[in-house]
Amino acid sequence: MSESEQGGPEEARVAPKRRTASRNGEAEKLLKVLILERERHFDDSAVTGGLDSFLRNVIARAQPGQPLLQAIAALPKSGYGSLNTRERAAWDKQVHFLLDPDAQPPKRAKESGSGRSGGGTRAPSPARPAPTSTLSAPVGSLGRIRGTTVQKLQRLGVETVEDMLWYFPNRHIDFTNVKTIAELVIGEEATVVGTVRSARVAFMGKRMRATEATVEDATGKIRALWFNQTYLAKQLPEGARVGLAGKVSAYRKRLQLDSPEWEILGDDPNDDGTHVGRLVPIYGLTQGLPGRTVRKLARAAVERALPLVPESLPPEVLEETNYPGVERAIRGLHFPESLEEREAARERLAFEELLSIQLAVLRRKRQARERRDAPQITLTGEFVQEFVDALPFQLTNAQIRTLTEIRTDIARAEPMARLLQGDVGSGKTVVAAAAVLGAIATGYQGAVMAPTEILAEQHFRTFHRLFGGDSEGSVFHNYTVAPALGRPVRMALLTGSVNAAKKREVQRALSAGELDLVVGTHSLIQQKIAMDRLGVAVVDEQHRFGVLQRDALRSKGLSPHLLVMTATPIPRTLALTVYGDLDVSRLDELPPGRRPVETHYIDPDDVEEVYERVRDEITAGHQVFVICPLVEESEAVEAKAAVQEFERLRTSVFPELAERMRLLHGRMTGPEKESVMADLLTGRAAMLVATSVVEVGVDVPEASVVVIEGAERFGLSQLHQMRGRVGRSTHQSYCYLVSGTEGDSTRRLTLMERTTDGFKLAEADLEMRGPGEYFGTRQSGLPDLRIAKLTDHALLLSARNYAEQILERDPNLRAPEHQVLATRAGQRHVEGAEAVH
Ligand code: ADP
Ligand code: MG
Repeated sequence: MSESEQGGPEEARVAPKRRTASRNGEAEKLLKVLILERERHFDDSAVTGGLDSFLRNVIARAQPGQPLLQAIAALPKSGYGSLNTRERAAWDKQVHFLLDPDAQPPKRAKESGSGRSGGGTRAPSPARPAPTSTLSAPVGSLGRIRGTTVQKLQRLGVETVEDMLWYFPNRHIDFTNVKTIAELVIGEEATVVGTVRSARVAFMGKRMRATEATVEDATGKIRALWFNQTYLAKQLPEGARVGLAGKVSAYRKRLQLDSPEWEILGDDPNDDGTHVGRLVPIYGLTQGLPGRTVRKLARAAVERALPLVPESLPPEVLEETNYPGVERAIRGLHFPESLEEREAARERLAFEELLSIQLAVLRRKRQARERRDAPQITLTGEFVQEFVDALPFQLTNAQIRTLTEIRTDIARAEPMARLLQGDVGSGKTVVAAAAVLGAIATGYQGAVMAPTEILAEQHFRTFHRLFGGDSEGSVFHNYTVAPALGRPVRMALLTGSVNAAKKREVQRALSAGELDLVVGTHSLIQQKIAMDRLGVAVVDEQHRFGVLQRDALRSKGLSPHLLVMTATPIPRTLALTVYGDLDVSRLDELPPGRRPVETHYIDPDDVEEVYERVRDEITAGHQVFVICPLVEESEAVEAKAAVQEFERLRTSVFPELAERMRLLHGRMTGPEKESVMADLLTGRAAMLVATSVVEVGVDVPEASVVVIEGAERFGLSQLHQMRGRVGRSTHQSYCYLVSGTEGDSTRRLTLMERTTDGFKLAEADLEMRGPGEYFGTRQSGLPDLRIAKLTDHALLLSARNYAEQILERDPNLRAPEHQVLATRAGQRHVEGAEAVH
């Protein structure tokens, strides 16, 4: 009768004998009873005496370990009788899920059957149940499809019936609103119904062919054109009644529909209207498959397999949210009757997706909390006061607040996972230094990781100075001792330029506990550092947590507190989705006296005025950065371009400054870079010509001009970072964005002129480039979202609340109504959360 009948039970009946090993008679019986139950709308009348007594008998006879028992165990103690209809239906689905091993999620590799007949241990295919009725049956079982189609589907990730169900259309075309040809308006999407007058293959120039058809209704004629799809000519017989939907255009003053969706409208009243006459699904990526093929398969999957899909949302969530059940939702997203139905379906499925992610990341966070294996580091008020008193400036209120948040965190045994966000120049380093010094004072070690060697060296110097060390002299040594805390802070620098012998020595000293602090590049510190007493790890300018693994920092029974610093704000949605709610501190205040950097977007023809400013500023005793355009090819090419620009500027633009100009690029050796930075800091150098290596973090307070050449090549966040190299003191500073190109980049560059707010720029950047680009897809640990969007704020918050509630009651997701969610959450990659929690 109803379509829901075609699911598992039928399979049970046709299942050949060989399956009885895994699905014995008892299971068969139960499935049959459930079919009846479903027919009777779960009124517990399928077996006399009620289902519960039947189940008790089953339990008595069953052998331990059978999936059947698991299925029954999924019922509450009070039994089937105590459930309401919805709960009974949910359990019914779960039973199918459990008793139908083929419906289990793990996907096997592509095995299209051919050439695999040799005697492996795999069960031969005849043992598989009637294919169309199970979720894991190959998608080919849904209809007659060719091998090439199967391959193309595979490339879309669609191998099984279940995959097909979850392969959703991007949009729908509204075929419900049919117009006459006379009513059509150029430029609009429309649907017409008419009769095919002619259909033929047309040659459209050298190698282009198309199907061209003329369709007529009572009010006029229209031409329809499908490029390349010459096979259509045969499928549109003259005289056939068709529906066409697409965008109306004009060709030589005649109306035309370009590659419209189409469907032959037979006189058959049972025409299911898969393709027209309703909201027709348009499947985005089809790898050259006709949309119609995908649509037919989706239709078949929906009709046959939907009842087998287990409900993932617990009953009370369904009830509270009023979301459609999983069957209605999947059907509604493929073949909705109305836009409202589609939206409800999309919302529910998006929610479900976000919920599984939230469960995965929050579980990770909870587990981290439960470990309680972090050192408890107490920073007394007195200690903080002493630290602050020794600084050459007063902390801003934001710095004080942030430091308090960190102090509270690290005093606990739960490992801290905190993000310190602050615009460029807001003074993050000193806050981190206080935390690190606190760890050292309590007898633990600290580690500071930076993305580049230059930055690592700079941090080393800064920490050294902040701890009261001499800023001259020993600074460029790799191992130094500075007095503080009434005893020396023993610190070491570990970068790629440190020679092997020294590296070994530093590593030995660290593991022997002879060093208090190591500063270095991310990779070096993470790789093979044994620090038995690592208390606080600071990661600077790292918004790509994919490469960070807290596990790598965890040593003998000790999890360090983790502080991640970034000037690239992570929008809230992303922070929640990727990191499972990292705690965030914000430095929303710049140190006093800072003036916004005056920013100008300059045409290369007017660059002379920039050079004037450069001369003036250098005369006034300030310093200048010139940043060369980003060259995509390679670091080597980029370095070469920088060398050329350096020579040009030195010989033909600023010959008088030749002595005081320096060059910096990624191809230089460690010591070369060090000496350049030293010249800048001591003032021996007035101008630095560099590649984008100076993008992050470099702190040269006297610098007041940054000239960015080929500015159109950089993203907003990058430009903002580079601009942040100036304006780090009370002088007025200038940023020149030199760019001759028109178009897209103009918007970015004018935005830079207008705002100095890093958060606003980051949001704009994210919006313009999308999260993948913004974060670097591979490394960011961005979850693979099929339905939800990262902009679904409200939905995400709701999913998070439910995830919290569910974990509160059932931390390990053991309850039967959480089984499907548990599986889904388990399949989620949550690299971000794993990296920081
Ligand atoms: P960022 O947040 O970009 O990493 P830094 O930590 O490098 O910023 O600090 C930028 C500059 O501001 C440094 O030269 C630092 O010494 C200085 N600074 C930090 N805090 C203050 C403050 N409260 N008052 C004045 N200068 C400060
Ligand atoms: Mg910094």
